[in-house]
Amino acid sequence: MSAVYESSKDFPLFYCCYLLESEKLGYKNHCYVGSTPDPVRRLRQHNGEISAGAWKTRYKRPWKMIGIVYGFHSHLAALQFEWAWQNPEKSRHLNDITDTSTAYTLYGNTQHLKRTKLLALSKLINTLPFSRWPLNICFCDDEQMAEFELLCNTRPEHISCISKNIANLFKEAIKESIHIETNKFQCCYLCDKEIQVIKDRDELSWTVCKNNKCEMRAHLICLSKYECGRADAGRRYIIPVEYECPACKVKTLWDSAVRGYIFG
Ligand SMILES: [Zn+2]
Ligand SMILES: [Zn+2]
Repeated sequence: MSAVYESSKDFPLFYCCYLLESEKLGYKNHCYVGSTPDPVRRLRQHNGEISAGAWKTRYKRPWKMIGIVYGFHSHLAALQFEWAWQNPEKSRHLNDITDTSTAYTLYGNTQHLKRTKLLALSKLINTLPFSRWPLNICFCDDEQMAEFELLCNTRPEHISCISKNIANLFKEAIKESIHIETNKFQCCYLCDKEIQVIKDRDELSWTVCKNNKCEMRAHLICLSKYECGRADAGRRYIIPVEYECPACKVKTLWDSAVRGYIFG
């Protein structure tokens, strides 16, 4: 390797897109979509309790975080989802909806309203490639979840939707971080090339098997190609929902296989 790396590193398991609703008088139902590795801290920034960023939203303070989407396989993936959620009319994933009333809401001048954001979310999770991603949705209470479910008639089976205190969910989620030794020479089980652990980047390109007794390491892209080829050669999805370790054959949800390694 050409640079000196830390010998090991802990990777937290969390990155989410979030939905804020304004609690300012006269701005009920005004919403904002963003993304963050720490929703609790981010909300405090939006509300001006701690400094740094969040200027754009200062006028409609205070904000409440009403829902999050998490389980992204990379930072880039989360940003892609965030952008489509913020800009349904520009997103190539959402800009071809033909149903008139849905299109009217998604592409009209009510971009900032909750109904538009919830409707966009319901369409996104049913649209490729997002519908294949191992996402989870959490609303802050039953009322918010019910509002979403009224608009979202159907969702992929593997995408869960729950209502729970978001701060508590986050606290539990970050307990599981994954420890990776980064100074060992490692080879991809599938392509045999060296695996480079990239420091100071928020995205790693490889994963290890969840089975403690198994030493399999592979590039995510190799694993993804392997899994898609194994299941059905005609399929061209980038991210399989589940993968079987090519070494020990233990099955792992893609979600828990990859999301931990992405955010440094
Ligand atoms: Zn490889
Ligand atoms: Zn394995």
